[in-house]
Amino acid sequence: IWQHVLEHVRRNITEVEYHTWFERIRPLGVKEGVLELGVPTSFALDWIRKHYAGLLEEALALLGAQVPRFELKVVPSPAVQEEIFQPKEKEAEGRSRLNPKYTFENFVVGPNNSMAHAAAVAVAESPGRAYNPLFIYGGVGLGKTHLMHAVGHSVAKRFPHLKIEYVSTETFTNELINAIREDRMAEFRERYRSVDLLLVDDIQFIAGKERTQEEFFHTFNALYEAHKQIILSSDRPPKDILTLEARLRSRFEWGLITDIQPPDLETRIAILKMNAEQRGLRVSEEVLEYIARQVTSNIRELEGALMRAVAYASLNGVELSKQVAARALSDVFAPREPSVDPEEILRRVAEHFGLRPEDLKGGGRRKEVVLPRQLAMYLVRELTRASLPEIGQFFGGRDHTTVLYAIQKVQELAESDREVQSLLRTLKEALL
Ligand code: ADP
Ligand code: MG
Repeated sequence: IWQHVLEHVRRNITEVEYHTWFERIRPLGVKEGVLELGVPTSFALDWIRKHYAGLLEEALALLGAQVPRFELKVVPSPAVQEEIFQPKEKEAEGRSRLNPKYTFENFVVGPNNSMAHAAAVAVAESPGRAYNPLFIYGGVGLGKTHLMHAVGHSVAKRFPHLKIEYVSTETFTNELINAIREDRMAEFRERYRSVDLLLVDDIQFIAGKERTQEEFFHTFNALYEAHKQIILSSDRPPKDILTLEARLRSRFEWGLITDIQPPDLETRIAILKMNAEQRGLRVSEEVLEYIARQVTSNIRELEGALMRAVAYASLNGVELSKQVAARALSDVFAPREPSVDPEEILRRVAEHFGLRPEDLKGGGRRKEVVLPRQLAMYLVRELTRASLPEIGQFFGGRDHTTVLYAIQKVQELAESDREVQSLLRTLKEALL
């Protein structure tokens, strides 16, 4: 039955929407007459519930299915990631562990990160000779990993013969545990002690792990004595990493400690601008500034907000204005803000046709009111969270099949009639 539902869905939305939201839904089974569907993230769940609940209900209804209702559940799966919001870091060997997007060219320098950036550039120009180790600390999503990878790329380009290893502290720990268990310690040591540039991300996670600290201490010494470059990142300075052996802490402080602070407004706007350009998106200054004002302390979230706004505008077929961005982000920044008010939809549609809102709710079957009413039903379905029966109730106690019929009718019209198409667009733009 899920296959049939998908077919119906696919016929009614664009390929991009289908790919973005539906390809990753997994049917989980039927429980007490409810079709359970697994979605990868809670964001996807909200989005699907808000925008496609009607379509799914409709598909189930059309199939005359025994299970007229469905329920969404978050079922995270490592293979199912939201790539558009979080590019997955490659976990392959050596250089290929570097994310190709994290380069110096793609790094916006602002007052918040200029010191860390300058230090990273210096290290990339003469690894092992400028600052060793380079210790970069700062809050989540402020660009520590990006800077480390940038050094990796730059060194790889400048000194192709050098061996580069990027590793998260978590991976380092896991590999160590495996090496111990499988009796491959010699191999493990050789691997990390033979590199020219070692990038260790999120070193704060070494806290409390005695065996890892012990092993890393020796790795550090071997590399340091051979004048090999070490770069460490952390969410806090060495002195604030508790249960870190004193000998390691002091070594982390041997070189240069530099921090990254949250970006100011101008830097945030510059980052968004670059992001939009790279993705070939045209977004107005006003919208970029609006988004930059909403998200202040995490660049990953800042970029995520831009992607959300862009996706929202494109799925609704409207221009990305400040208002549209505000609505797209309302879920994130003001949880549970109600969607568009159905009364407002009614008012707008009635006004457009020179009718009174009561005419649309009432029982009149005159030609002049039938189409406007159907359009209003369609818009309520699309712009609010109301279910089909709720919409029927709202429109003077009509049956949900009437609502379904109206929605299908408008969909057909929108496909064949450009005037209806542009009318819907105008109305939506006024409402969003
Ligand atoms: P951290 O490691 O500090 O948690 P990341 O390096 O993973 O943060 O950065 C999070 C996201 O923000 C990445 O997509 C990164 O490319 C982006 N980013 C961070 N700082 C900048 C910057 N100065 N310019 C452009 N993009 C940045
Ligand atoms: Mg990081």
